[in-house]
Amino acid sequence: MEVASSNIEDMIFEKIKEAGPEGIRQSEVGRLLGIPGSEAARAISKLIRKGLVRKHSTIVEGKRMVVLYAVMSTDIPIVVNLNSVENVPCFSCKVINKCENGSYISPQTCGKMNQWLIESVLRSVG
Ligand code: SF4
Repeated sequence: MEVASSNIEDMIFEKIKEAGPEGIRQSEVGRLLGIPGSEAARAISKLIRKGLVRKHSTIVEGKRMVVLYAVMSTDIPIVVNLNSVENVPCFSCKVINKCENGSYISPQTCGKMNQWLIESVLRSVG
């Protein structure tokens, strides 16, 4: 009986999720589920493209090993406080595309940046 590729993806994703933060070796996923390696690799690639899985390559005892981790979404809202950077002059700079370390226009030579830094330091100590 042939298994639909989306079912294979679901099975693989569940197996990767089960592994938790330790992850699971890519070479084990297909073997544990009884899925041929090439099919497992295709499904894993799709999961990675969808952003559901990330992989990390490492060398263990001279052998390359690929470990897969499930990317878990959270419902926890992430709040970022931008107060400390809201007046950074770069956000409204007309030459930001030409500004680069070591070039004629750079953060090191920028009067607006220097002024903003000085004012920021004075605000933080004052
Ligand atoms: S450092 Fe100065 S020149 Fe460079 S992007 Fe920021 S404001 Fe613009």
